[in-house]
Amino acid sequence: MDDLQFGKRNKRGDWAPNEPAATAPLFVFPPQPLRLLKWLPHYFLPYNALFFLSALAWWHWVVPPVEVMRSLDWAWVLRLFLVNAAAVFLWYFAFELRLYIRRAQGNRFKYNGKFPADTPSDVFWFRSQNLDNVLRGFLSGVPIWTALQVGVLWAFANGYVPWLTFAENPVWLAVLALAVPVIHEAHFFCIHRLIHTPFLYRWVHSVHHNSVNPSPWSSLSMHPVEHLLYFATILYHLVIPSNPVLAIYQLHYAGFELAPLSTGHPGIAMEA
Ligand SMILES: [Zn+2]
Repeated sequence: MDDLQFGKRNKRGDWAPNEPAATAPLFVFPPQPLRLLKWLPHYFLPYNALFFLSALAWWHWVVPPVEVMRSLDWAWVLRLFLVNAAAVFLWYFAFELRLYIRRAQGNRFKYNGKFPADTPSDVFWFRSQNLDNVLRGFLSGVPIWTALQVGVLWAFANGYVPWLTFAENPVWLAVLALAVPVIHEAHFFCIHRLIHTPFLYRWVHSVHHNSVNPSPWSSLSMHPVEHLLYFATILYHLVIPSNPVLAIYQLHYAGFELAPLSTGHPGIAMEA
C-alpha cells in the first residue's frame, strides 16, 4: 500500500496524513444518526470486544475464587502480577516486533521517519529509549496496575462495595460495559489536562513525552504518579454500582488500548 496516496512525506522522511483526525461520531453535535450507525461496528471491533473478552478470561482463569480474594495473600497477588506482566509483554511486543524490529512497514505511514533505536539520547535511562520505556512499564506500570486491581477485587470480595450480578442487572451492566471506553476517555482527558500544568509536567508528565518518536513500548512509559492517575479509572467501579468483570475490563482497556494507538503510525497496513 502506498502511503503517499493518503499523505505526504517531508524532506526529513516524516509522514503526515492529508486528512486531519476526525471526531468519533459519538461525540459530534448535532448528532448524525446515519454516520453513527455506520461507525458503530468500529466501536466494538476489534479492540473493545477483545479487551472485554480478555477481562472475562482473567475472571475465569487468573483471578482466584472470592473466598481467596477476601484476604491479601502473596500467592494470588503474585500470580496476577505475573500474568499481567506476561500479557503486557506479549501484546506490546507483538506490535513492536512487526513495526519496529522487523520494520515490516518500513517508514510507510510512520509520522517520524526515523526509528528510536537508531537515535540514542541522554534523556533516557542507559541512553536507550527502548530500554527506558520497557523498564518503566514493568517496574512501575504493571505493579501499579496490579496493585489497583488487587485492591478493587479485595473490596468486591469483602462486600465493601455493591456487586451487581449479570443475571439480576443485565441492562444496567450492559450500559455500563458500553460506557467503559467513554469513562476512560473522559478520565484521560481530565488527568492529561492536569499533568500538562507546569509543575506536574516538569516533574511527572515530561517522562512520558521524552519519547518524542514513540514506539509501542513508549505508551506505558510514564512516571509512577502518572501510572497511578492513569490506571485509577478502575476506581470508578467502586463508586458506580458495578461488577468485578467490568472493573477488570476498565483496567484492561487502559492497559492494552495504548499499543495500537502508540505505534507512531495512524494504523497498521493489513497486508503481508
Ligand atoms: Zn501529554
